[in-house]
Amino acid sequence: MPSTSTRGASADVMISIQHLSKSFGATTVLRDVNIDVKRGEVVVVLGPSGSGKSTMLRCINLLETPTGGHIFIEGNEITAKRTDVNKLREKVGMVFQQFNLFPHLTAKKNVELAQIKVLKRSKEEAARIAREQLERVGMADRADFYPAQLSGGQQQRVAIARALAMDPHVMLFDEATSALDPELVRDVLDVMRALAAGGMTMVVVTHEMNFAREVADRVIFMEGGVIVEEGTPDEVFNNPKSARTRDFLGHIT
Ligand code: ADP
Ligand code: MG
Repeated sequence: MPSTSTRGASADVMISIQHLSKSFGATTVLRDVNIDVKRGEVVVVLGPSGSGKSTMLRCINLLETPTGGHIFIEGNEITAKRTDVNKLREKVGMVFQQFNLFPHLTAKKNVELAQIKVLKRSKEEAARIAREQLERVGMADRADFYPAQLSGGQQQRVAIARALAMDPHVMLFDEATSALDPELVRDVLDVMRALAAGGMTMVVVTHEMNFAREVADRVIFMEGGVIVEEGTPDEVFNNPKSARTRDFLGHIT
């Protein structure tokens, strides 16, 4: 039997979620969720509203405290008592539906801030990395714009650049395109595609079925706080095992 602190430490496992449960008071939102995400793997999580997708992602960087179970990131148990939450969050970048940029800071300053405050990088280094990351998401020419001067899609790309500037080992996306006008979705998905192609480990909650088909290595369908089905995109989309998955995909595509 491996000891608690080394379970999930296999070199190619980036995230190991073991028997995760989460309740809010009497409401159980996640029940015995088990997922291993390999290094470089892109896992897309699908499921109806209220199925626990956001809560699951938020447990991975301890924005929510799990009620039960264990989560390991690169072999380190983050659910252990002594976890340094700030160190953990440096490794796990998260992008939300709402971009949460600081409205009084330019795009560039938004990308610099946590590098200086959290990683203690010099102003010069933070500025250099901000330029690189804004370039990477196609926003170099908007570096001096304030969020209000940017479209939703542009703001979201700045938010992605901000997360990438922290050198995360994993990126979590929670419906990153759901708040965007349809014509702005593509640019953000293209950035996510490029990240995936570059080998980033990603867990992506989305309703973008084409993205899931094309980019996911694995698709997980959740409902009622449990994993109902998982498999390759081909397995889940073309040959779903459960009636619930078929029903969900039938409604959404
Ligand atoms: P999804 O992202 O799949 O829509 P969520 O993880 O946001 O689902 O929510 C799952 C369930 O947990 C919902 O029923 C929601 O109302 C409940 N929930 C989420 N956050 C809280 C909270 N902070 N307090 C109480 N209930 C919550
Ligand atoms: Mg959600």
